[in-house]
Amino acid sequence: MKGISLIAINHGTIITANGLIQDGVVLIENGLISDYGEASRIEVPGEAEIIDAGGAYIAPGFVDIHCHGGGGVWSWEQPHEFALAHLKHGTTAILPTFTYNESREQVRRGIRTIMETMDSQLPYVEVIAGIHMEGPYINKKYGAVTSPIRPVNPEEYHEIFQLAGERIKVWTLAPELDGQEAFIAEGARYNISFSVGHSEATAEQIFRYVPFGLRIGCHCTNASGTTPSPSRYGGTREVGVDEAVLVHDDIFAEVIPDREGIHVRPLMLKLIYKTKGADRVIIITDAMPSAGEDNGDVSDVNWNHLGQLAGSRLTMDEAVRNMMRHASVGWVEVFRMASLNPAKVIQLDHRIGSIEKGKLANLVIVDEEVNVKKVMLSGRIVHETNESSTR
Ligand SMILES: [Zn+2]
Repeated sequence: MKGISLIAINHGTIITANGLIQDGVVLIENGLISDYGEASRIEVPGEAEIIDAGGAYIAPGFVDIHCHGGGGVWSWEQPHEFALAHLKHGTTAILPTFTYNESREQVRRGIRTIMETMDSQLPYVEVIAGIHMEGPYINKKYGAVTSPIRPVNPEEYHEIFQLAGERIKVWTLAPELDGQEAFIAEGARYNISFSVGHSEATAEQIFRYVPFGLRIGCHCTNASGTTPSPSRYGGTREVGVDEAVLVHDDIFAEVIPDREGIHVRPLMLKLIYKTKGADRVIIITDAMPSAGEDNGDVSDVNWNHLGQLAGSRLTMDEAVRNMMRHASVGWVEVFRMASLNPAKVIQLDHRIGSIEKGKLANLVIVDEEVNVKKVMLSGRIVHETNESSTR
């Protein structure tokens, strides 16, 4: 048995994608989940190192596919610091996400920085799972007036594909812009999941791109078009991007569940959850650099200098807590939305996103209030809180 590392986590409730296992044990062999189940069924080898979950929940680490910053830094400027700030809150896979405010030169430099970090030997860089481009080819009406939003430019996107290729996991765009068809067709070759956002595309325009990999509705009900008013027929309601996203079974809906229900009102969260179901909602933070810093008890949303809503200060643990509270979502369902669904949409669910045999032991141990007690990457504890655990 030499050279094999064996770890057993016991005294916890395991959250699987299909149910809870009370008094569960998770066995980890060389960083991978080798077995899990009720304590009475799992035989713990004598040489295994024991980690006591202290009666808390043992769950898959969070996967955040839409996150701009954290720990005081922008994700493309200091990706390592950014990833560590979110790791402490249980996010074990993250996509550094560009905004539509970066110039072509800033994007180029940022991509190089992210890729150098991913290829480095820095501790825990494996948390960085790829890149999300939120723009720049979005509809000007749904972005800040001053930002360098630009027309679809083949020369620019060729350069980005050359540079990053399959490391780009998500690309948010407005389907109604000229030139998107050629762009999406080319992006499909890199397995990119496209996201409709900052857009007022029609349902037909959106659905046409689903076969090319349009799989996400970017922060549903935020900057996702407005119902044209007055509508074609007085006293009726037009349909827009959100309705198209809610209706199509192959499109996931991202949501930002902040504490005060500002990005998405609690009733709207319930509506999205009810319509899409636990398999098609993805919880994101859309976080800015101030996320993950000790803000005291200030609001978890972020406003720009013009007083407009501009992302959040959320970390995934808090977003999950808010989702459970606002939309009465249970443990199993909330972890599908915060771990498995995002892992699926970036096609990494064969490695991460749920507690299953053969997947990486990227885990988070949380108490009843979703306070993070321990964070594990490939079976190693990378963060734990000091206070004694709940029991
Ligand atoms: Zn964003």
